[in-house]
Amino acid sequence: MNLVKPVAADRLPALLRLMPKAELHIHIEGSLEPELIFALARRNGVALPYASVDALRSAYAFTNLQSFLDIYYAGASVLLTEQDFYDMARAYLLKAAQDNVIHTELFFDPQTHTARGVPMETVINGLHRACVDAQAEMGVSASLILCFLRHLSEEDAFETLEQALPFQDKFIGIGLDSGEVGNPPEKFARVFARCRELGFHLVAHAGEEGPPAYVWTALDVLKVERIDHGVQSSRDALLMQRLAQDRIALTVCPLSNLKLCVFPDLASHNLRQLLDAGLAATVNSDDPAYFGGYMNENFTQTFAAGPFNAEHAYRLARNSFEASFIDEAAKARHIGRLDETFATFQ
Ligand SMILES: [Zn+2]
Repeated sequence: MNLVKPVAADRLPALLRLMPKAELHIHIEGSLEPELIFALARRNGVALPYASVDALRSAYAFTNLQSFLDIYYAGASVLLTEQDFYDMARAYLLKAAQDNVIHTELFFDPQTHTARGVPMETVINGLHRACVDAQAEMGVSASLILCFLRHLSEEDAFETLEQALPFQDKFIGIGLDSGEVGNPPEKFARVFARCRELGFHLVAHAGEEGPPAYVWTALDVLKVERIDHGVQSSRDALLMQRLAQDRIALTVCPLSNLKLCVFPDLASHNLRQLLDAGLAATVNSDDPAYFGGYMNENFTQTFAAGPFNAEHAYRLARNSFEASFIDEAAKARHIGRLDETFATFQ
């Protein structure tokens, strides 16, 4: 690990914004801003159950994961054409570029769209085209991770996989998201085994609201390479040891945890505890349009609330590259840029 120079507390937000980073936990449907939801609703003639952008935004007062998911699925109902999916992803990628996110792995939920009659190819082609253009136009590399909705059946996940396989060159991995409690990872053991045979990278949401047991089964039954969220792991000392030993990355989402009441405030968040225990924690935005901030907001608000310094900033950014699914040469290049930023920051 490189030596990191101390940085004055008042200069830390500037460094957090400037440092290159990767975002590994972003649901592209969760980046739909109310303005874009209304624009797409108008373009597609979709009626929304909200009178205005402000009325929709004021409905974003969540008490738990389910209260958020109800609005999230309503927002996604405006997405119908390939251009809609392209526009949504492009809007996010522009924000990511502004935040100095130089690599991102985007989750998408095809079942949210195919269940409404939108063809799989419409979803994947629109998102993929936005990823290709982001590399060329913004210098941001972006790839896609297809997520199964865990409140639906494993049979439905298998059906979704079949529909997506003709486009398998356009996504790199498989994830598991939506309502966690009562839908443990092992419910999807067979379909994840199949995805593993097919050579996809595997990740899963576990330990957001659910117990440490879900993190164990995500690792041991689904054989995932990263845990999305995973903050409940700190309740299980043995699990913490396992995560540290195997360098299993946790894609932590502080503002999401705050908005969904996983922690009462950012000062009580356990990110610092996870880092101190040697875990490969990262910072991510989850569903930024709904949770009040993109990457840099997650970093600056978290650091403002807790005992964090430049060393933690470096470690979080470095973890994000090391935990990403890019090749070793790209990782080394990105970490080189990170080192350069820290070395020259005044
Ligand atoms: Zn998530």
